[in-house]
Amino acid sequence: MVLETNFNILIKRLNIAISQYYKTKSKSERLALDIYIKSLRKEIKNLVPKLKNLNDNFCYTPNLQKELFEDEETYLDQYYMYNEFHKHFFEPIYKKLSHQYGTICDLERPKLTNIDDIDIYKLFEKFAQTIGLGDLFVKYQDEKRIHFYENSTSSDRKGFIIHNPINNTNDIFIRKDDYAIDVLITIAHEFGHAYEFITSKKNVKEYNNYYYGSFFLETISMTFQELFIDYLIEKNMLYSDAIYYKYLEHYYYDDIANAYIYSLIDQDNLLFGDLSPTEIYKIVNKYFSKNDKIKYHINNFLDKDIKNTYRYAYGKVFSMFLKEKIKNDGYKLDISEDFIKHNGESFDLKLLNRYNITPQNYIELHKNETTKLKKICEYDLIEYKEKTYTKK
Ligand SMILES: [Zn+2]
Repeated sequence: MVLETNFNILIKRLNIAISQYYKTKSKSERLALDIYIKSLRKEIKNLVPKLKNLNDNFCYTPNLQKELFEDEETYLDQYYMYNEFHKHFFEPIYKKLSHQYGTICDLERPKLTNIDDIDIYKLFEKFAQTIGLGDLFVKYQDEKRIHFYENSTSSDRKGFIIHNPINNTNDIFIRKDDYAIDVLITIAHEFGHAYEFITSKKNVKEYNNYYYGSFFLETISMTFQELFIDYLIEKNMLYSDAIYYKYLEHYYYDDIANAYIYSLIDQDNLLFGDLSPTEIYKIVNKYFSKNDKIKYHINNFLDKDIKNTYRYAYGKVFSMFLKEKIKNDGYKLDISEDFIKHNGESFDLKLLNRYNITPQNYIELHKNETTKLKKICEYDLIEYKEKTYTKK
């Protein structure tokens, strides 16, 4: 049974990690393993709800973390330091694009291809080859590093990756959804994380800083996701599924809106206050009084954490830039390697400049994508259904 297999894999990884933890004297390594062990435990509990009382306090993260980061800025400090920047970055994007929230054109939902109708691995392998990572993907299959879990578990996540920072190994977990496109895009996303982890070859201390401090943790994974969707459309594979997905995904701005809202709330409130929804609404209302859509955002916003919101928001914006550059270079990943190498300990404004990442340029890129999509909606709809790719 799938569930048991995954459970055994996770337990196996957990045992290795725990023995690594006790063997090492290095604080950095312990902290890195601590992250890994925590995520393993979380996943085990997700898979087997019976184990929800599994002790979480195995490691010593709070003290260790404090000790290690005493002289450095933690991600929250960084967040405050750059709060003004975050605001100026997301405000123009949100204000310019929020009116498009919802629909670009009326695209009927196509009959999405079922997961059993295509060979998922084969299709993704083709994409992996195109970006020069065919061997890596085959290796992951051979080493059984890609695992599927049933859709019925409590978590609504489509997939996740767990990374052992000492061995530099990854395990990718994918929710077995009904539709091929969902599963494939999740593989693309998690494979992006895997690529990023093994490419960065950071030492453990850098890894910790990166893990705790970086706003860019979702950038490469989202770039892979975006690249993969464009690849499907270009190659005419799962065409209507990809168009539909792109259309759906592309015009939802929760993360950008949420990141903007966070930047509007003053730091004392964020740090100390467990603000009630009403209080947050009051603060946000100051800025969004005329915008009804914000109510929707606030509801979504309350159960998110700052770090992740920024990671996905920046990921959303940056991935557009990186994706375009990679495509223009003939699907070569050089640019993403460069990005990974310089991505890390702090919020690097130089990095943004180097890639010409500005709100204005993002809005421009977004406009181009919109135009393309509109064209597809208007002219391609007749062909739309015939362009489906299946193995039959
Ligand atoms: Zn991710």
